[in-house]
Amino acid sequence: MMQIFKTRAEVTGFSEQQRAAGKEIGFVPTMGALHAGHISLVNHSKAENDVTVVSIFVNPTQFNDKNDFLKYPTSTDQDLEMLLTGGCDAVFLPSVEEIYPEDQSAIAPVVLGYLAQCMEASRRPGHFDGVVQVVDILLRAVQPDRLYLGAKDFQQVKVITALVEQRQWPIKIITAPTIREEDGLAMSSRNRRLSPEQRRVANILFNTLKEISAQAETGSPAVLTKSYIEKLNQTAGLKVDYLEIVDYQTLRPLENWNQKGNNLVCVAAYLGDIRLIDNLLF
Ligand code: AMP
Repeated sequence: MMQIFKTRAEVTGFSEQQRAAGKEIGFVPTMGALHAGHISLVNHSKAENDVTVVSIFVNPTQFNDKNDFLKYPTSTDQDLEMLLTGGCDAVFLPSVEEIYPEDQSAIAPVVLGYLAQCMEASRRPGHFDGVVQVVDILLRAVQPDRLYLGAKDFQQVKVITALVEQRQWPIKIITAPTIREEDGLAMSSRNRRLSPEQRRVANILFNTLKEISAQAETGSPAVLTKSYIEKLNQTAGLKVDYLEIVDYQTLRPLENWNQKGNNLVCVAAYLGDIRLIDNLLF
């Protein structure tokens, strides 16, 4: 049986009941339009916890681009089918009013430092403030033992880790690898909006990340970055938002290569009005 909760009080009650029975809770927050990447997070949680809770909430406060919010795909019935098949125990499916009641008290700030300035943060003003705001509320409601996040949103993992650490919550964060389509395109809810032509070229993002990782010895990070931005921008209909080779811990651009495994290349690009991101650790 999979339970569906619409209020914070219900999901908190469920968690308290589970904990009282000695059960450990894994939590997978999502914005719905689920795909195999999300289900992989559910599977990781199921392997390590007694109970798995998934939330589906398209958080308005993290969309800096109104059009992106309005066009964000939803498929709740299909999502619930997938979660039932995937063996999820409980789904938290709140309304916007449930998450953001009018009398809400302001949340304590989280210090993000450079995380709030680089890459996604600089291109999407206010985005991580919205992420912190909603994840703070979701974690208070669900109170999980373990939180499952995707490496595809690498900077987001860092931001949420800062939130959990600064709140001193006893929640373990697990980062799961990016699940890809056969041609390498990172699975994303936004992929549903790609036209057949855009879909055909979209795997150039991951191919570029792989090429950069393979060529690390042939040039400096700065030289490779510049040449691959130019190369990507030659693809019809594609516009690079950023391409950066950074330290995987600080996310600061690399002047010289780190030792193997500590280099991270991150890309964001528009295909038409659809913004896709990806990254590769190497
Ligand atoms: P979203 O619904 O896009 O907000 O994503 C919910 C969670 O799923 C986040 O932790 C994402 O990083 C993760 N996720 C999204 N796409 C993938 C993917 N292709 N592989 C693994 N995790 C993913």
